[in-house]
Amino acid sequence: MANNSILVFAEQRDGKLKKAAFEAVSEGRRLADQLGAELHVALLGNGVDTLTGELAGVGADQLHTADHPDLQFYSAEGYSLVLARMIDQLSPSVFLLPATAMGKDLAPRVAAVCNAGLATDCIDLTVEDGRLIAKRPMYAGKAIATVRWAGETLQMASLRPNVFPAEIRDGAAPPATVPFAVEGLEGKIRARVKEVTGGGGETKDVTEADVIVAGGRGLKEAANFSLLEALAEKLDAAVGASRAVVDSGWVDHQAQVGQTGKTVSPQLYIAVGISGAIQHLAGMSSSKCIVAINKDSEAPIFKVADYGIVGDLFEVLPVLTEEVARLKE
Ligand code: FAD
Repeated sequence: MANNSILVFAEQRDGKLKKAAFEAVSEGRRLADQLGAELHVALLGNGVDTLTGELAGVGADQLHTADHPDLQFYSAEGYSLVLARMIDQLSPSVFLLPATAMGKDLAPRVAAVCNAGLATDCIDLTVEDGRLIAKRPMYAGKAIATVRWAGETLQMASLRPNVFPAEIRDGAAPPATVPFAVEGLEGKIRARVKEVTGGGGETKDVTEADVIVAGGRGLKEAANFSLLEALAEKLDAAVGASRAVVDSGWVDHQAQVGQTGKTVSPQLYIAVGISGAIQHLAGMSSSKCIVAINKDSEAPIFKVADYGIVGDLFEVLPVLTEEVARLKE
């Protein structure tokens, strides 16, 4: 029998909590208030004790820290094993985690081990008769499914980043920290990450950014991305890209937005020289405000845009960048 409690996985990488972790924990708090449930947070890694203070304002009742050298780098085997044991011990009725790259890898494995019902990439969660109802996009965003969990199954949901607001309560008491004993990992992690190098640590991650300036084939060649980067810099934005330009080798795959790239939901998405193919829209149509710059007034991107500029991007971008710089001054 499950306890009336919610457990949320607070994702950290390289000793930094992800923005999506705060969003998931905040949503956990909101649901816990509606269900009259306790909110527990799971923090996994090596030396994660230093992060507990950052979670002071999220309103958690208990913070469970699984601290072990074998958890230094993420591994599906190690993390799913520890989380499954934690779930077994705490027996929550709800388990939430962010639908980040890590969350997408982790969620099905944990769900299988815990025999949980899993709704992935949720964009909305509500409570009805003490159980959750989730909304999640399907068919690359063409349809929205409403999902309920059957019977008493553990309700597990991964949350699309940048959709749920992160609420940090000022002056909130820090949660009680409970160390979770990590034992018996020996021989269980068969594929180990030894070291992580490079990976463009300087570039902003599109999934974490509030503002994204994304470029497509309309930019003509890789060198012209500097025009886009100039605007991105003024807006403190991340640079995104369509698959066409990633496939052409102009931009790293990390920047690709869409069905086979990343799903983003920033406050502002500026699409420059991107036609708006359905596979691109699948990754960005839930952005709060979409601005499109395209010389073709019939381009499909204008169907989802809140603001459109029909014009030559090589004329529009420098003017826009200059104007943003002027306004910032
Ligand atoms: P184009 O479609 O060539 O559009 C270029 C646009 O630039 C045009 O609208 C044109 O009017 C405009 N333009 C040209 N010159 C100028 C100028 N001077 N000023 C202003 N505008 C100008 N795509 C993704 O983006 N992400 C994905 O994850 C993805 N996954 C896919 C998965 C599958 C299975 C498949 C089949 C396709 C996928 N695609 C994806 C590819 C997708 O179908 C499109 O081919 C791609 O998005 C097109 O990229 P684009 O808009 O940059 O290029």
